[in-house]
Amino acid sequence: MTQAPPPQPINWDKVTQEATDLLSKYVQIDTTNPPGNELGAARMLKEKFLTDGIPATTWEPQHGRGIVAARLRGIGKHNKSIILLSHMDVVPANPKEWEVPPFSGAVKDGKIWGRGSIDDKGPGVIELMAMLAIKRAGILLNRDVLFVATGDEEEGGKNGAGWFVDHESSVFSDAGYLINEGGGIRALSDNKRKVYVVSVTEKTPLWLKLTASGPPGHASDPPAETAVTRLVRALEKLSEYKTPVHVIGPVQDYYHTMAMLDHGPKQQLDLAAALKDPAYLQKFLDDPSQNARVRDTITPTVLSASQKTNVISETASAEIDCRLLPGSDPKKVMNDIKKVIGDDTVKIDVILNFPPISSPSRSPLMTAIERLAREHDQASVVPSMIIGFTDSHYFRQKKVVSYGFIPVDVNPAEAKGVHGINERIGVKELADGIQRMVELLKIFGGQN
Ligand SMILES: [Zn+2]
Repeated sequence: MTQAPPPQPINWDKVTQEATDLLSKYVQIDTTNPPGNELGAARMLKEKFLTDGIPATTWEPQHGRGIVAARLRGIGKHNKSIILLSHMDVVPANPKEWEVPPFSGAVKDGKIWGRGSIDDKGPGVIELMAMLAIKRAGILLNRDVLFVATGDEEEGGKNGAGWFVDHESSVFSDAGYLINEGGGIRALSDNKRKVYVVSVTEKTPLWLKLTASGPPGHASDPPAETAVTRLVRALEKLSEYKTPVHVIGPVQDYYHTMAMLDHGPKQQLDLAAALKDPAYLQKFLDDPSQNARVRDTITPTVLSASQKTNVISETASAEIDCRLLPGSDPKKVMNDIKKVIGDDTVKIDVILNFPPISSPSRSPLMTAIERLAREHDQASVVPSMIIGFTDSHYFRQKKVVSYGFIPVDVNPAEAKGVHGINERIGVKELADGIQRMVELLKIFGGQN
C-alpha cells in the first residue's frame, strides 16, 4: 500500500492573485435578480472546479437560472460532509450612483469593486479557492466538502436553494453541516480585538397582502366608505399595534457576550431582565435594529389602488412585510393581525412564509469555529440571530446544522456596500478569508 505524499505548502500569493482575478470575472457576469440569469456564472464556477479535477455539476431550474455544486472528496466515509453555500444572484445597482461601474469588477486601491463583491460572490470565491488550495496541497480531510452556489436568493430562493432542496436533495444527503452568509468577523470598539459572530437562527418572513373592497365609482360623488378608506383604516390600526417583546436565547447570549467583551451597557448583561424596566425598554426599542431583534415587526411596503385620480377603484391593497422571531407562530400572528384590523371585509393572503427554524448553538462545527477564532485571531465566538433571512432555512429544514459565518473581516464602511452603493472587498480581506476557511476545514476535517 502506498502512503499519501505529505501535504505541500500553499502558495498564498498565487492563491490571492487567482482569487482576485476570479472574483473580478465573476462580478462582471451580471446576475441582477430579477431576472437572475445565473447560468453563465454557474458554468464558469463549474469549469474552475473541473480544471482542478474536482467533479462539478450545474442545473438549470428555470430557463437561464443556474445552480452549481462540486464535491471535494475526503478520506473519512463515516463523517458527515460539510456544505459551503453561497448565492450567485445580486440585487440591482444603479451605475449613476456608483464611483465605478457596478459590473466592472475593477481592481483598484487594493480592493475588488462591484455588485456582489461582498454579497455574495466574494464569499463564494473564498469557499471555492479554499477547496482548490486544499486539493492542490494534497491535504486529506476526513470528510467531504461540498460547494453549492444557488441563484434567486435575493428574491426568496424559490428558484434556487428551494428548488435544489426539493429536487436534488440526494446530492447532499450525506451532509450534516453548512456554512453560509449571515455572520462574520467584526472588530470590537477598541479596533484591535475581534469577535466571530455566528448566526444560528434568523427571523422568518411572513409576507401578507391585505385587500379591501368597496363600491367602485366616480370620485365626484363618493360614498362614505370605499376600498381605499377601509384599507387606510386597517393600516392605521396596524401601525398603532405594538407586538410583544420577547428576548430569545441567541439574542440574550449575543448581548451578554458583547457587553462582556466590549464594555457594553450593564443592562445588556441580562437583557431580558433589563427590558422589564419601562424606561430602559423604550430607550432600547427606539433603535430600529434593536427593536427588530426582540419583537415581530409589521411593515407596510407596497400600496396599490386606482390608477386615476377621479376613479374610485373596487379594491385597494397593501403588501405587508412581517418578520417573525423564531418561536412566533405565523398562524397566531395572522389571527392577531385580523383582530387588530377588526374588519372582516379586509382579506388577508399569505405571499411568503416558511417555518421558523434554528440550528443548535453547540455542535462540532461550532467547536471548530471556536478553535479557529482562538488560534487565528485570539477572538471569541458569539452566536446570534440575524434579522434578515438567507437560504440557510432550506437546509435547516433538512436537519443540516447551518451557520451564518463567512470568515472575513469586513469593516463597517464596506459593509454599507451590501445592497448599497460602491460595494467592494479588500484583496487582503479576501485572501485572509481563504486562509481562515482552509484552516477551518483542516480543523473540522481532523487535520491539524
Ligand atoms: Zn446575500
